Amino acid sequence: TEFVSANDLAALMNVSVNEVIKVCMQLGMFVSINQRLDAEAITIIADEFGYSVEFITSEDEQALEEVIEENEEDLEERAPIVTIMGHVDHGKTSLLDYIRNANVTAGEAGGITQHIGAYKVQTESGRTVTFLDTPGHEAFTAMRARGAKVTDVVIIVVAADDSVMPQTKEAINHAQAAGVPIIIALNKIDKPGANPDKVREELAQMNILVEEWGGKYQAQEVSAKTGSGIPDLLEKVLLEAELLELKANPSRNAVGTVIEASLDKGRGYVATMLVQTGTLHIGDVVLAGSHYGRVKAMTDHRGRKMKVAGPSTPVQLLGLDGAPQAGDKFQVMETEREAREIATNRAQVQREQSLRTRKHITLDEIGRRL
Ligand code: GDP
Ligand code: MG
Repeated sequence: TEFVSANDLAALMNVSVNEVIKVCMQLGMFVSINQRLDAEAITIIADEFGYSVEFITSEDEQALEEVIEENEEDLEERAPIVTIMGHVDHGKTSLLDYIRNANVTAGEAGGITQHIGAYKVQTESGRTVTFLDTPGHEAFTAMRARGAKVTDVVIIVVAADDSVMPQTKEAINHAQAAGVPIIIALNKIDKPGANPDKVREELAQMNILVEEWGGKYQAQEVSAKTGSGIPDLLEKVLLEAELLELKANPSRNAVGTVIEASLDKGRGYVATMLVQTGTLHIGDVVLAGSHYGRVKAMTDHRGRKMKVAGPSTPVQLLGLDGAPQAGDKFQVMETEREAREIATNRAQVQREQSLRTRKHITLDEIGRRL
């Protein structure tokens, strides 16, 4: 499916985006300029402007969309994928760093930690948890806007020496809109001024009643500085994950989401990919958004080489012919020719779309100047 925003739709119909937004509001839909619209919304809005909509999906794309029915016996438990969100300075980065550095098993010691946007750790109870580590958590928002669902559990960090802040509320709203379960981390509990009950009270006022007060939300007092409470926090994540019964089929071709990608001088295009189901191997042909390539090398967040990556495993991958966008889906294809065809096709559609949008903006600006 292609990304169509209110802005794109306005351009296609040759009307201003304000008119589109106004009509949306009259219909009870609140959309922003660059928000992705779903097929139903597009149809309704276009109808208001007297247009009918035809959704064209190429045969190749259709084949990709086909949902593979998995047999129950092929499914295996997979690690939960977790995003940490919260107000600035409440300790997201510190918490992620503490977890990444504390949960190093003997064999891993010595590896230099690299920022790859995601990592997988082993807990004290021997189970694994995958963390998405994206600056500012733009990726979560970007991925959601692109229709990608990658996070199973959201940890909302609130500094216990501070209050529920605007970004705390925003993060809670995001998680709830995405239907992702929330766990509260009451951070900075080591600080003399910490008052976690005050935060619990503020959360209760916004209908987030924590378990210890008889509510349904798990909460844990932690310190990203001393590490206190962090093992318990991880156990609570695993408890939440058990309820979700997260499963995937490790024996099929890999499918997942692009977390981030960039051009690295010397190594070429480097993409952090999160395998969600199936297993990715060296040599596999990968189609990712409008790019493709054969997997040349894979490394984990400590820079160690990997030959295979199963469900819920993030990898840094070399071999793509360009940088796909965060939130793009990726999948392993049978042949390079097939992958190239679809990638080329998608790139073409993207170019045409940006041309149309640009043309409209130019006309609109001229109109305004007259
Ligand atoms: P972010 O903006 O949410 O990523 O917050 P940071 O992780 O950058 O933390 C902001 C500041 O709070 C930094 O100076 C951290 O050292 C400090 N900090 C974070 N967690 C704790 C904690 O548990 N205890 C104490 N005392 N300081 C913390
Ligand atoms: Mg930070």
